Amino acid sequence: MRAIDIIAHKRDKLELTKEEIDFFVAGITTNTIPDYQASAWAMAVLLNGMTAQETTYLTLAMAHSGDILDLSSVAPLVVDKHSSGGVGDKTTLVVAPLVAACGLPVGKMSGRGLGFSGGTLDKMESIPGYRVDLSEEEFMKQLADIGIVLTGQTGDLAPADGFMYALRDVTGTVPSTPLIASSIMSKKIAAGAHAIVLDVKLGYGAFMKDLESARELAQLMVEIGNLSGRKVRALLSDMNQPLGKAVGNAIELKEAIETMHGKGPEDFREHCLVVASHMLILGEKAAAMEEARALAEEKLSDGSAWDKFLILVEAQNGDVDYVKDPEKLPAAEIRDEICADADGYIAMINAQSVGEASVMLGAGREKKGAAIDLGVGIYVEHKVGDQVKKGDVLFTIYANDVDKLNSAKQKLSEGVRIQAAACEELPLFYGVL
Ligand code: URA
Repeated sequence: MRAIDIIAHKRDKLELTKEEIDFFVAGITTNTIPDYQASAWAMAVLLNGMTAQETTYLTLAMAHSGDILDLSSVAPLVVDKHSSGGVGDKTTLVVAPLVAACGLPVGKMSGRGLGFSGGTLDKMESIPGYRVDLSEEEFMKQLADIGIVLTGQTGDLAPADGFMYALRDVTGTVPSTPLIASSIMSKKIAAGAHAIVLDVKLGYGAFMKDLESARELAQLMVEIGNLSGRKVRALLSDMNQPLGKAVGNAIELKEAIETMHGKGPEDFREHCLVVASHMLILGEKAAAMEEARALAEEKLSDGSAWDKFLILVEAQNGDVDYVKDPEKLPAAEIRDEICADADGYIAMINAQSVGEASVMLGAGREKKGAAIDLGVGIYVEHKVGDQVKKGDVLFTIYANDVDKLNSAKQKLSEGVRIQAAACEELPLFYGVL
């Protein structure tokens, strides 16, 4: 078999066989297929698509390109969640300890920011000392000991995805439904959770821009999960505007901490409760939404989720003084604002523009592996549908560099629209599969 023939088959819109896909993934993993062939193949997949069967073969081949964790020895039912990527999406920071506080073990391997979308690991690294590089043994032990882990993907899990992901990021091949579905699901399968809640984002600040493509991605991931013996539920959630108010790293962590103290923005709290409730149902801690919701609300308001978060931070070597007193977390020196230039109603706060502005401030990477500025970020002070008066603050910006601040302000201004006529709020969710 030759890589060039497999690329040509996909170029010619043929359905690849299991053998061809296995051969290609093995070649990527062992580095016998060079970057340029892997990139050409990824572009052919992006342009010509894959059937559900091909995507399943691809997912399983990538999942089996490294170790597959078996968490059954740790607990009979371990849950995980995964967001397809968004702006201001700090849900894991609250939901993981919340669900663990309800007695359901959560073993979570998260990622770093990608493009304009933020990453859980970067946010958690705002806590000095917090380790995101646990080994598989440490992952298993901590999960058994305290019922919660929040770390990075070890290099031994789905290495083919690690390789493809880095390549896609720089070859314009990220927004492909089969490539996203196989990337997410291969990691989830390798990480061993028995039940997975997928939070599939749609809108300006998501990879899937509309409901139809998000539903297609969600459906595909649910099918792949079920085929590999996992219980999977997918939520379709809004990412036209950022989630919550804070977009950055340390400021998102602060907002998550506030939420675990019964405060925090209403939309974010609601989003967390819904995601947690679905995890509790899949994890058999509750039979129906109402019961799950009541349990999640109780553990959020009685401080159990917060206590679990502290246990997590301590277990992974983070300095708990910084989360107990978030004023100690990294902060930026310059504070600035953008104000409404007219009376009216907020018709758009484009999440992609906010995400890009945040990257411009230094909160995300413009080059692979670059250092980020944990203290900078943006508070989005209003939601779509809000009535504002001329002069009301729309965005509060924290920066460490005047030039970056000015570029970010320009980007933010482009992403907001105020209109005279009243307009509807955006929904938080569009459906569940
Ligand atoms: N998240 C992933 O893990 N992979 C993708 O391809 C996109 C989002």
